[in-house]
Amino acid sequence: MMKVIFLGTSDAVPTAERNHTSMLLEYNEENILIDCGEGTQRQFRKAKLNPCKLTRILITHCHGDHILGISGLLQTLNFSEYNKPVLIYGPKGIKEFMKLVLQTFSFQGKYQIEVKEVEGKFFENDDFYLEAKSMTHGVPCNAYTFVKKNKIRINKEKLKKTPLEGPILKKLKEGKDVVYQGKKYLAKNLIYEEKGKKISFILDTSLNPKIVPFAKDSDLLICESTFDSESEERAKEYKHLTSNQAAEIAKKSKSKKLILTHISQRYSSNPKKILDSAKKIFKNSFIANDLDIFEI
Ligand SMILES: [Zn+2]
Ligand SMILES: [Zn+2]
Repeated sequence: MMKVIFLGTSDAVPTAERNHTSMLLEYNEENILIDCGEGTQRQFRKAKLNPCKLTRILITHCHGDHILGISGLLQTLNFSEYNKPVLIYGPKGIKEFMKLVLQTFSFQGKYQIEVKEVEGKFFENDDFYLEAKSMTHGVPCNAYTFVKKNKIRINKEKLKKTPLEGPILKKLKEGKDVVYQGKKYLAKNLIYEEKGKKISFILDTSLNPKIVPFAKDSDLLICESTFDSESEERAKEYKHLTSNQAAEIAKKSKSKKLILTHISQRYSSNPKKILDSAKKIFKNSFIANDLDIFEI
């Protein structure tokens, strides 16, 4: 089970209801923070989450609404029981940015901070990987995907009808046929593939041809929607997306569910203006509110 908790859903100017951008992805032992706008640590409190459980921080870009909360969060971790290295990933320039932030706040952490500038696949284990793709936003900016890999599993019901047990099962899981007590068992009869899951985070960017292939087949596509469908020219000028463009991306990438975020205060009294137009193009669209949780 994967869970995304929206800690902040505003664009550059926060409102009473919407904090600056931040999302937390929870999956097994992983607690991955995507962006850390101002006030993110208070949103942790409101969501009753413990920031000491953080395993990685992914920053899309160094505009204030996505990163101004990082110094406060690091300070709080320092006052807490946090004792692992803090892993921060971001686009080109994040290293210099973090160096200056830490200097400015005379930061003396009890823990190590590792900052990596990433592009392409930047973390992988047996179970999942993380990938970054540079976007078009006037400053270096990354979109991210979290991909849980397909897994070979043994069909327990079918296995019960065989005498197979122990280390031989490992061979089956590798897709190899096995011979046991003189009898041959075909792997294809006993195993099945559990489909992986993909979550894409497309934050600030103008429309560009890299988005659709990067978000391809997402189970959950989280996409910025700073402008409504009538403001395409302005979206282009400010290097952002409209709600219709986000919905087109969801449709073309064959994603299953679209969550719109990075919502401007100009729609605070009428968020349906954004959602309704998106839904006309991509039915399974939702608009994120602060502290909303989506599970897949
Ligand atoms: Zn932004
Ligand atoms: Zn931005």
